[in-house]
Amino acid sequence: MKAIRLREGRERSLLHRHPWIFAGSIHGGKADPGETVRVEAHDGRFLAWGAYSPNSSIRVRVWSFDEAERIDAAFFARRIERAVQMRRRLPIDSDALRLVHGEADGLPGLVVDRYGEHTLSAQFGFAGSERWKTVIADALLAASGASRLYERSDAGVRALEGLPPISGWLRGEGATAVPIREHDWRFRVDVAHGHKTGYYLDQRDNRRLFAQWVRHFGCAEVLNCYSYSGGFSVAALAGGAARVTSVDSSAPALQQAGEHVRDNGFDASRHCTLDADVNRLLRQYLDDGRRFDAIVLDPPKFAATATQAERAARAYKDINRLALKLLRPGGLLLTFSCSGGIGPELFHKIVAGAGIDAGVDGFIHARLGAAADHPMTINFPEGEYLKGLVVLRR
Ligand code: SAH
Repeated sequence: MKAIRLREGRERSLLHRHPWIFAGSIHGGKADPGETVRVEAHDGRFLAWGAYSPNSSIRVRVWSFDEAERIDAAFFARRIERAVQMRRRLPIDSDALRLVHGEADGLPGLVVDRYGEHTLSAQFGFAGSERWKTVIADALLAASGASRLYERSDAGVRALEGLPPISGWLRGEGATAVPIREHDWRFRVDVAHGHKTGYYLDQRDNRRLFAQWVRHFGCAEVLNCYSYSGGFSVAALAGGAARVTSVDSSAPALQQAGEHVRDNGFDASRHCTLDADVNRLLRQYLDDGRRFDAIVLDPPKFAATATQAERAARAYKDINRLALKLLRPGGLLLTFSCSGGIGPELFHKIVAGAGIDAGVDGFIHARLGAAADHPMTINFPEGEYLKGLVVLRR
């Protein structure tokens, strides 16, 4: 077994059970991509078992802090079973859910979603999960009872690991469009062509809440920015909105949004789609004097890392300023950031700054996060990526 020796004083975060070891903390030792290594303090004391990634600045990710644990097929079967069991205890009103959420489930670099009874969609995001792919695939099918597994290892993070993009069926085959149920709604997820693993499951609870708020506050005209396949648009229509506009820069996503409106039994005349850049559209709407009763801002990740946070902060502030101005008094803004580099406090400050610049005040009606099947653990604060504020305009 190869060993990775840390520099003196660099074992602190591991002793706090943080699962990442950055290249700069390593004194010596090397291994092949994904190979299991024994991580040692500067004096040779055992700290953890991890997987080595020679090309990544996160050089080692921890599998286990238990010296007696062996990293083998049984280990992955146990971890996956634990993740699946944890979901069984959660009140999830859908047949689509996240089964494995990377570090939070003790499986760094592995994301797995289940769509319907039979289909899994997985992303192997780092050298360790890549190396154990076959073992992991078998364990996933055994634990979940699904029969098919589509691989979506085509995210940008793979490049940081020196891994090529891969996608396709890993187990099973057939149609890649899978019907799912979320709350009382029907959606269709395409595991091959959809974003990420196919669908944004982390917003499930927030879509239901949005439907309730649209009804409660009587929002008639709703603007869903960065709509993807129209989840929040269907929610708004279910909440009784008279008219909903879905805006996205992806034409296939908008086409799906239209289909989802129809599949859920809503009259197509209540919904329209716009293939546009949100920032430019919001400016245009301001010039045109348009106003809305509710606006959703759920942009893609503007900051991938903390170093990009400043530029991202300006971008968030800009769209929030515009959206606040476009709201009628009493209107509702649901605004999100899924950038790990922007914490909840900073996001609050950004929205506050947007309000000042817009000359608009509002009440924070709620604070939102990712659904519970995207868990956070207490020792991995980076796990808190999605945060949302619900602002009720004065
Ligand atoms: N709210 C959605 C998920 C949004 S994901 C849901 O509930 O499913 C972010 C979306 O923003 C993606 O669909 C992407 O195509 C879109 N997007 C990215 N940049 C954009 C831009 N500048 N203008 C409009 N849409 C954009």
